[in-house]
Amino acid sequence: MKTILFNLNDSELEQFIQELGQPRFRAKQIREWLNRGAPDFSHMKNLPEDLRNKLNEVAETLPLKIVKKLESSDNQTTKFLLELNDGEQIECVLMRTTYGNSVCVSSQAGCAMGCRFCASTLLGLKRNLTVNEMFAQLLVAQWELRGDRLDKKDIHPNGDANNGDVSHIVVMGTGEPLQNTENVIGFLERANGELNISWRRITVSTCGIVPGINELNKWGRPINLAISLHAPTDELRSQIMPINNKYKLHEVLDAAFAFSDTHNRQLMIEYILLGKKDENGDTVLYNATNEHAEKLVELLRDHNVMVNLIPWNSVDERDFASLSGNAVHRFQDILIKNGIHTRIRRERGADIGSACGQLRLKNARDKK
Ligand code: SF4
Repeated sequence: MKTILFNLNDSELEQFIQELGQPRFRAKQIREWLNRGAPDFSHMKNLPEDLRNKLNEVAETLPLKIVKKLESSDNQTTKFLLELNDGEQIECVLMRTTYGNSVCVSSQAGCAMGCRFCASTLLGLKRNLTVNEMFAQLLVAQWELRGDRLDKKDIHPNGDANNGDVSHIVVMGTGEPLQNTENVIGFLERANGELNISWRRITVSTCGIVPGINELNKWGRPINLAISLHAPTDELRSQIMPINNKYKLHEVLDAAFAFSDTHNRQLMIEYILLGKKDENGDTVLYNATNEHAEKLVELLRDHNVMVNLIPWNSVDERDFASLSGNAVHRFQDILIKNGIHTRIRRERGADIGSACGQLRLKNARDKK
């Protein structure tokens, strides 16, 4: 098995390089390339060619490699299907926005949570990701943005946010981050310390693991917390999110409000608007009636929240239906009229299946 150089600490890397009969300073050169996300040794132009060839035989750069890369038609979203060293696959998405470059990071290979509208959970949970595997997703995105160009000034002379560095992280890809809290915290500490990504530009999204939310609160960093709520009553939420049988709606929201109060951060509420087909094949509202909107208002009134309404992006294996724009706006209007900050979040890169887990699932099916 090849050695993954990114997983070695500095003295281990030096030792590895010296065992190849190379001087120690080569280790420093390699480390710089690794920290910029070089996907293979051919890019490491300041190393002699015979060393690059040797490294190619005995080592890998990062603990993951790109299997597929899809670009949205507007060129603003790049989705990566990545393979980990043990063959597990995860997804990672780079979104170029007007406010910066945001990376949606996976925290687990697969997911055990079983949310009924989600593709990521259909193959179950394989395992937690390590700190390095999460950090390497940022480096893949960073390399996509900057490649082997060293000088930032060469890249965004006009302050163009579409180039430059990763500036925002959302831990919202495959997996439930608060089932892997220790590694997620380790990863975020590193992203903040090494890539200088400010806490306020980091968002962790959970389906509602109450002890994990409390742990984040105790950790004390002023990140953003997002709760995948998706239903305004326990009865409905338990139907689509099995975790609600363990942690009820009010428990989840109380822990989340406590987090946002402690850190003085606006709480994000994620709400996927779902339809269903009735027996005549017509689409009916599933969690998106006026009554549901009013119940949601009752839950959130007087709290500092932003509701992200997400029109459902269809997943073949799931029997929900997309709603019309009118239905989505009607729901939004009720929230806004009641003073709840709300926006409609169109899935970025819908043309490349950027909804969580779709690409990974498709690849697993194609392999069969
Ligand atoms: S929505 Fe999130 S928590 Fe739920 S199954 Fe999908 S990845 Fe897991």
